[in-house]
Amino acid sequence: MKEFNLNALVRKNILTLQPYISFRDHNEFNAPVMLDANECPFGEFNRYPDSSQKKLKNKLGELKGVSPNQIAIGNGSDELIDLIIKIFCEPKKDAILMMNPSFAMYGFYATVNENEVIKLDLDENFEIIKNDFLKITQERDIKIFFLCSPNNPTGNSVEDIEFFIRNFDGIVVVDEAYIEFSGNRSGIELLDKYPNLIVLQTFSKAWGTAGARVGSAYASEGIIRFINTVKAPYNVNSLSQELILNLLGDKNKLKENVDNVLKERTWVENQFKTIECIEKVFPTDANFFLIKMKNAEEVYNKMLEEEILTSKRAPAIPDCIRINIGTREENEKLISVLKRITS
Ligand SMILES: *Cc1c(COP(=O)(O)O)cnc(C)c1O
Repeated sequence: MKEFNLNALVRKNILTLQPYISFRDHNEFNAPVMLDANECPFGEFNRYPDSSQKKLKNKLGELKGVSPNQIAIGNGSDELIDLIIKIFCEPKKDAILMMNPSFAMYGFYATVNENEVIKLDLDENFEIIKNDFLKITQERDIKIFFLCSPNNPTGNSVEDIEFFIRNFDGIVVVDEAYIEFSGNRSGIELLDKYPNLIVLQTFSKAWGTAGARVGSAYASEGIIRFINTVKAPYNVNSLSQELILNLLGDKNKLKENVDNVLKERTWVENQFKTIECIEKVFPTDANFFLIKMKNAEEVYNKMLEEEILTSKRAPAIPDCIRINIGTREENEKLISVLKRITS
C-alpha cells in the first residue's frame, strides 16, 4: 500500500466544503429560550433532532470502544454508503469495486453518482479470488472497495479481510450488516491499524429496528469529519435517536434476538433436508439462507401465490433463492408450503 493520504482521495469540492453547523447542537445551554430555528413552540416533537447525535454516539462509542469522533450515524447504513461514494468519487470519472454477487445498493448509489461499478466475480463457494482482486486493483484506478462480510445474498463471511485492506490504495468499506449473527470479530478492531478502513453496521437486522432507519459508520476521525460534513443536518429523526438509545440500554435485547434467530436457523436448516427439490443450502453466517434448487423460478412463484415472500436471485445466481429466518410460525408455514408445492 502507498502512503495513505486522505485529502488526496477526497473530491476537491468536498475538501473545502463547510459543514452546516447547528449552533444549538454545538454549544452547551442550561435552559435556553429557543427562538432560533423557526420551530413551533407547541407539541411533543416540535424541535429539530440533535444534528450531531451526541447521546447516541457517546453510548455507541462506549459499547464499541472507540471515540464518538470516530462514529457517523446515518438514516440506515444505506445513507452512509451513498455519502461515502459522494465524498470520494468524482462523477463520470471515478470507479468503485464490489464483490459479485453482493449487496445491490453499492452499485445503485455509484450509478446515481455516475461512477463506474467494477465487479469482482466470486468463486463457486462465493469467495474472493485474491489474485483477481490484486490484478483488477493494479490495472484499474479504483476509489472504494465495498467488502460485505457476511455477504448478502450469499451468507458467507470473507476470510482474511486484512489482506484486502492492506493491498488496496483506496478506501475499503467493510459492511457488517449481519456480523451479530456470525461470531466474527468486527473490523472496528482494525481501525487503529488501517487509515483507509470504514466499517458499516446497522440497527436494521439483528437489532430488529429496520423501521427506525439507523446505521453507523466507524472510521478515522478524519473520514468521519467528511461524512458529518456532507450529511443532511437532520438526517436521523428524534424518535429514532431516542428509540435506539433506549435499545442500547437494554443489554439483553440483541442477544435475545440473535439467539432466537440462530435457534430458528438451525431448525430451518434441518427442515430443508426433508425438501426434495433443494439441491444445496449454502453455509451461512447471517439470518438468511441462499438455497439452490432445480426449479427455483417455479418454486419461487408458487410460494408467492401462497403469499410467502422470498428473494429470487436467479438469473444473477442461477437457480437460487434467498430466504430469511422468520418466527417459528412463519418458518413452519414456509416448510409446509415448500413440502406441498414440491412433492
Ligand atoms: C440490509 C443491509 C444493509 C442495511 O441497510 P440499512 O440502510 O441500514 O437498513 C446494509 N448492507 C447490507 C449488505 C445489507 O444487507
